[in-house]
Amino acid sequence: MAVPKRRTSKARKNRRRTHFKLEVPGMNVCPECGELKMSHRVCPACGHYDGKKVVEVANEK
Ligand SMILES: [Zn+2]
Repeated sequence: MAVPKRRTSKARKNRRRTHFKLEVPGMNVCPECGELKMSHRVCPACGHYDGKKVVEVANEK
């Protein structure tokens, strides 16, 4: 079985793990209600998309 010749240094290990992190979905502010929403999705807080109301939301302000 292949075995590493050298121990991976702390710095190298940490550099490798810079890509090892939680991915946060792209969020932006809804222009209708100001809530954070996911881009290219209907706003879950007010039901608007592209400046138009497209779905009814139960607990609307
Ligand atoms: Zn909204």
